[in-house]
Amino acid sequence: MLDPVNILLVTVLSSIMSLAILGSLRPAGIPGVSRWMGAYVMASGALVLAGMQRMGVPLLTIFVSNTLLACAITRVLEGCREFFGLSPRAPLARAGCAAVGAGIAWWYWITPDLAARIALVSVFHGSVYSAIGWLALRHRPAGRPAYSYRFVTCAAWLGAFAHGLRGIIYGTGLIHQSTMLDFTPFNVAYLALGILVLPALSIGMVLLAHDRMAERLEHLASRDELTGALTRRAFLTQATAALDAARAAGTPHALAIVDIDHFKGINDRYGHAAGDRALSQFGRVIAAGMRESDLFGRLGGEEFALLFPAMVREDAVMRLDALRVAALAVRRGGCATAHEASPSGSAQDDGEGAGDDAPAAHAGLTFSAGVDVYQDGDTLASLMARADAALYEAKTRGRDRVVSATAQ
Ligand code: GH3
Ligand code: MG
Ligand code: MG
Repeated sequence: MLDPVNILLVTVLSSIMSLAILGSLRPAGIPGVSRWMGAYVMASGALVLAGMQRMGVPLLTIFVSNTLLACAITRVLEGCREFFGLSPRAPLARAGCAAVGAGIAWWYWITPDLAARIALVSVFHGSVYSAIGWLALRHRPAGRPAYSYRFVTCAAWLGAFAHGLRGIIYGTGLIHQSTMLDFTPFNVAYLALGILVLPALSIGMVLLAHDRMAERLEHLASRDELTGALTRRAFLTQATAALDAARAAGTPHALAIVDIDHFKGINDRYGHAAGDRALSQFGRVIAAGMRESDLFGRLGGEEFALLFPAMVREDAVMRLDALRVAALAVRRGGCATAHEASPSGSAQDDGEGAGDDAPAAHAGLTFSAGVDVYQDGDTLASLMARADAALYEAKTRGRDRVVSATAQ
């Protein structure tokens, strides 16, 4: 069982299993999966050839097998780069594989030296495995659970360790070996680690792909399709967490409830589809004016909530006034914005939108907003209730304005 050929055979079989599992993820269109599959096809081929060394034909069993395995591992790295949204480094990968091929040929046919060959292959694989581990460690998307990414790092660095140790031991001549398949304790231990690393790495890739799918589903579940804002439930959950953090840190948080003015009139006059387009544009314009830490949620219909962490009341009012001006660039008829909104935009339609004197399709959207800041003892509900009362005040004072709760 411990014969290196058997160990290689088990590794080949596990690579084929990995391939089958990765194949099931291909239809999901996860970046990098096709490259990973290609890598495991190459690795299986390379290992089959390596296992046939006792049958001779060194061109295939030594030269092609080593070069193919080098290509396979660089393909895994390229797949990881693609998965993390980084551009592939194809020329570098090709140059690395060509260097391995050239070194193998030199130290097999020109100046035969098994130790040099093993050291070269080990240094190459060790470097690529290190790079894979480093990528997974550094490029985990913000907010994603660490498990899958750390798993890949551990598996890759285990591979890097095994190859590094092997490179040092053979490079410095500590152990002499006559063929790659010698039945020595170190060779068996090294190949056994290989059995562990290749499947572990493929499990890691499957975990990464699953995490990417979970991220997509969570995004779909927490985003309102029409406006891109958080859904009501996601907003309430995230805003509650943000207020808890504010309570602990003692930072000021401002909250606004925003309601588009006379939206019913837009539907009545230009049709529901135009209303949808206007809502969608509105969502984009508001999102563009928010910081990354701000929360923007759709409470329902044409009513939205905005949470501004670490922001005092006056700044929140100024921010909302700027958003009010930006929203003027959203046409009531639902067309895409074609021009910048005039910063002097102001109240222009206090009448009912559906009437003959209603604003034209090219006129911009206006909204009313009520704002308040977090106070000691507040819950999200009590803060929202005060902002809502301020919004009501804004509506009764003539709409198209921002009212701060204390200014009532
Ligand atoms: P006010 O200035 O007092 O807020 O007036 P309003 O017309 O905006 O308010 P009202 O509550 O009377 O009407 C809201 C309208 O928003 C009614 C509803 O048909 C429309 N609406 C809600 N959700 C959607 C949506 O997803 N798409 C479209 N097209 N219309 C929507
Ligand atoms: Mg409204
Ligand atoms: Mg409303």
